[in-house]
Amino acid sequence: MKRVYGLLGWPVAHSASPAMMNAAFAELGIDAVYLAFAVPPANLQAALDGLLALGAGGVNITIPHKLGAYQWAPRHSDEARLAGAVNTLRLHPYSDGEDPEAADVMGHNTDVAGWWTSLRTALPRMPKRVVILGAGGAARAALAGLALYAPTAEVGLAARNLEKAAETAASFQEYISVNLVSWREREQAVAAADVVVNATPMGMWPQDDTSPIDDETCLHPGQVVQDMVYRPLETRLLQQAARRGAERVDGLDMLVRQGVEALEFWLGVSAPVEVMRQAARASLGL
Ligand code: NAP
Repeated sequence: MKRVYGLLGWPVAHSASPAMMNAAFAELGIDAVYLAFAVPPANLQAALDGLLALGAGGVNITIPHKLGAYQWAPRHSDEARLAGAVNTLRLHPYSDGEDPEAADVMGHNTDVAGWWTSLRTALPRMPKRVVILGAGGAARAALAGLALYAPTAEVGLAARNLEKAAETAASFQEYISVNLVSWREREQAVAAADVVVNATPMGMWPQDDTSPIDDETCLHPGQVVQDMVYRPLETRLLQQAARRGAERVDGLDMLVRQGVEALEFWLGVSAPVEVMRQAARASLGL
């Protein structure tokens, strides 16, 4: 029997996830389909209850539902708890005719390991000083990743709204050292960092002529610059990093890695990373 998986968001029409996940199911020979569901905020709970009742295997969750999904989930992984958000729900791993009580419904956050796996491949050593630009959901995933995988790093959290950044930082102070950096002083902090992460939408289409960095001389060789933005793939920040001789990590890799983590969480098998990457690239017209 074909099992249903999907993505719940509002809006979701332009997501690369259906192409990426359906390509993975085909490659693995798994009888499943992954659909995008446009769910307005008021319908989230009904949609999740309905998918659970229908025996769906699992879902990904995107803006604006990550907090709502966290509240709906009866149990949470460490990643979800740290990030305070759920982007992946496991619903029914059981088969047709088995006891539905065996369903182990769980909220997870695969942006956390997806972010770290994507960054780690470019790191020559464990990070010492990390500057995160932006203090929203993506920044929280990176902070949770550092708390879990690189807790000795010193972190600078640079944001234009320091009050909001202080709230974000407060939930991680127990696990990692997070210093607030004003937006005016971000380039000074970036100059002293070995890892720089753009977790703002600056540089994202249609504002692709913008960058979170004005004076690119703060970027330098020996530094890893990661942009979470993936449309365009080569953002203005990554062009600046190339000119300055820094190592670069684009946002598509994180997108693919969070999908890989989700698939492995649902199915317990190794995901076909390159097949998923090609499908995501094609669906984004890259
Ligand atoms: P979010 O929750 O809205 O947070 C965005 C952050 O950027 C906030 O701190 C916001 O500040 C700040 N910001 C926005 N515009 C700014 C500007 N012009 N100058 C300075 N700061 C600015 O969004 P998010 O979910 O964290 O996503 C951030 C980016 O990461 C998006 O482009 C998203 O597509 C990308 N992302 C990529 C992946 C991936 O898999 N590659 C995963 C998650 C997110 P305020 O609070 O003051 O507005």
